[in-house]
Amino acid sequence: MKQIAVLGSTGSIGTQTLEVVRANKDMQVVSLAAGSNIDLLEQQIQEFHPEVVCVYQEKQAKELEKRLAGERVTVLAGMDGLIACATASQVQIVVAAVVGMIGIRPVVEAIKAGKDIAFANKETLVTAGHIIMPLIRQKGGKLLPVDSEHAAIFQCLNGESDREVAKILLTASGGPFRGKKRNELECIQVEDALKHPNWAMGRKITIDSSTMVNKGLEVIEAKWLFDVEFDQIQVVVQPQSVIHSMVEFRDGAVMAQLGTPDMKLPIQYALCYPQRRDLAGERLDFWEIGSIEFERPDLETFRGLALAYEAGKMGGSMPTVFNAANEKAVALFLDRRIRYLEITDMIAECMQKHHNIADPSLEDILAVEQDVYRQIEAKYH
Ligand code: NDP
Ligand code: MG
Repeated sequence: MKQIAVLGSTGSIGTQTLEVVRANKDMQVVSLAAGSNIDLLEQQIQEFHPEVVCVYQEKQAKELEKRLAGERVTVLAGMDGLIACATASQVQIVVAAVVGMIGIRPVVEAIKAGKDIAFANKETLVTAGHIIMPLIRQKGGKLLPVDSEHAAIFQCLNGESDREVAKILLTASGGPFRGKKRNELECIQVEDALKHPNWAMGRKITIDSSTMVNKGLEVIEAKWLFDVEFDQIQVVVQPQSVIHSMVEFRDGAVMAQLGTPDMKLPIQYALCYPQRRDLAGERLDFWEIGSIEFERPDLETFRGLALAYEAGKMGGSMPTVFNAANEKAVALFLDRRIRYLEITDMIAECMQKHHNIADPSLEDILAVEQDVYRQIEAKYH
């Protein structure tokens, strides 16, 4: 039996993880965690019978506890609850699928407790990769990428030596505004940005995909997961999202992983690695696809991608500033309090004002996050 914790079980990755668990009789849910959606969490508890759950928001946690009186499940709240779900003794693998850098502490504690991690929560790796990667090596656990591009690269590297990698070719759909220029993006509304051409995902990552900040976060994520330099990571726009990413080796050979856009594949692969198993769903039909196109990303229109490379190369606390400013700005945009282009303007402004801290501790990272939030709030209240 594979014993699993799902952090962010009510989200897009979380619910698809539970679909995978439902289809695999040798997987068992030990713990579930969500932010506030207790209606869905309650249904999940009835179906998967976890021993412990966490609702981050106290009030909703209390309400859920009331609803579940008499049941054999412990309901916890807050960061302590999240950490308890990630580190419960029976858990073997933690699916890190909360959104945002709130995932840092539970992931770090899970690794310290010897758990493997199926990693979707890229913001955590972007901001704390320099802490997480050495820790996972020290503890001997596995970090299995769930993000489709990184799962693709991971598959391309099967049986290869990391030293032979020349380049990571990170594919990008280009999002709903591919081909547009900056002045055409001035009036973009929340509804426009929430329409992703190929993938159905949570709201924050969908906005991030439209600004290409998501690809920027993925560049930094790839640097940590595959131990390459930023100059070795090339973003290639591939609008159909058929190729999930590629690796070029030192002899010029390029390996790619292709598939339909279905996150259950990388989720199941991470949970079963190194095994492959049956997975129901559509298959690629190359006669139907006909052709696959490639483009260079437009770094002037999608300046978030250029800023990510800049933040990544500077290192230290700068990726945290990049990420925290984006998290806050996207939340403000979703609340219709700022305009679309202000998202990346805000990231640039926060990065410019920041005095970079080399090799920041976990406490430094969390302090920088709060500083950036305060800075943006002060401007927009
Ligand atoms: P969603 O917004 O759909 O889900 C987020 C999940 O996190 C929900 O279960 C939410 O609970 C929970 N959550 C939010 N805040 C907290 C908190 N403070 N404590 C505990 N749980 C919390 O996001 P996605 O599933 O789309 O994305 C999750 C992560 O995976 C992100 O980092 C994203 O970048 C990454 N990812 C997602 C992909 C996708 O296809 N969706 C693809 C690749 C990466 P509640 O419902 O109660 O708010
Ligand atoms: Mg991705």
